[in-house]
Amino acid sequence: MSGGRGVVETAGVVVGLAAVVGLLLFGLDLPLGGGADRPEAAGGQRTAERRQAPAPGPALERRVVVVSVDGLTPGALETVGRAGAPAMWSVLDGGASTMDARTDHDLTVTLPNHTGMVTGRTALPELGGHGVVWNEPVLGAVVPGDGSGEVGSIFTQVHAAGGSTALFTGKPKFEVFPTTWPNDVDRYVFEPGAARLTRLAARELRTERPDFLFVHLAQPDNAGHASGWMSAPYLDAVEDADASVGRLLEVVDATPELRRDTVVVLTTDHGGRGRGHGDPTAPVEYRIPFAVAGPGVATGDLYALAPGLTDPGAGRPGMDDPAPVRNCDVANVAAAVLGVAAVPGSQCVAAEEMTALLGVG
Ligand SMILES: [Zn+2]
Repeated sequence: MSGGRGVVETAGVVVGLAAVVGLLLFGLDLPLGGGADRPEAAGGQRTAERRQAPAPGPALERRVVVVSVDGLTPGALETVGRAGAPAMWSVLDGGASTMDARTDHDLTVTLPNHTGMVTGRTALPELGGHGVVWNEPVLGAVVPGDGSGEVGSIFTQVHAAGGSTALFTGKPKFEVFPTTWPNDVDRYVFEPGAARLTRLAARELRTERPDFLFVHLAQPDNAGHASGWMSAPYLDAVEDADASVGRLLEVVDATPELRRDTVVVLTTDHGGRGRGHGDPTAPVEYRIPFAVAGPGVATGDLYALAPGLTDPGAGRPGMDDPAPVRNCDVANVAAAVLGVAAVPGSQCVAAEEMTALLGVG
């Protein structure tokens, strides 16, 4: 394509950015090729896709692939075991990891926690957070912040350093990210069919090799709402999500350039119980896995490797308490691994305590 910065490509048609921002993408049925699995989700969700020409720049030292498995609990990983979730366990076992990380302190729902992952902030604006306190897709919405100015993101940091970014998601609500940072999310794909989303993300990884790739897998959360957390269908969905993770890891392993420099971060937005989640005081919702694995990254218990962090045990520490690992640490862990500046305004700074185990600093 001939466009430079500020131009996006949607379904092969190059259009001006202004025409795309605010466009209702949920309703587009884009001809992305075959795939009998699409769509898997109910509610008439369709695919949305856009691509922007990445800014040319020097290569970053490493790459980061973040995989967030929606609604994944430590108990689910332990129940299906290494036989049921070999890919996720390979990340947990092969890197610095813990089953005792934390969600956002105040909200255990999807969009606030994922916004935390990319901004490094807590949610509530009165705490200086990113301000995404809603969990529905809202057309044209942007990350509001706490009223003190623009909200930074890991997409912005990577782009400012000359790197490329991509976001692949199984839920349409993530549209708020490319809407908020239209110049910094180079590639955005929403696809409710998990198998198809996995294929598209794997292809992106193999062919484009983005410096920062964020993949959101929705299978466990969808099954949890339909059949209950820890039900047989939910555990099947955890295994299905593991197959998606495995496909991405296969691409990394099969590509020498990726195998040499790709660090994988695995975590989730929240747990769940019954057929839902949304009680931030429930341990089964706020206690989550977090793992970092790849070249240069230490192996073992994350809290033992980073003594500046505090294992919260069964507790629910607030932002002023000794810091545990939180899912909002994704942003600055990625920044540290990539060698780019920490996200401005970020509050989740466990990466500073993790530099040695991440192979930086
Ligand atoms: Zn949910």
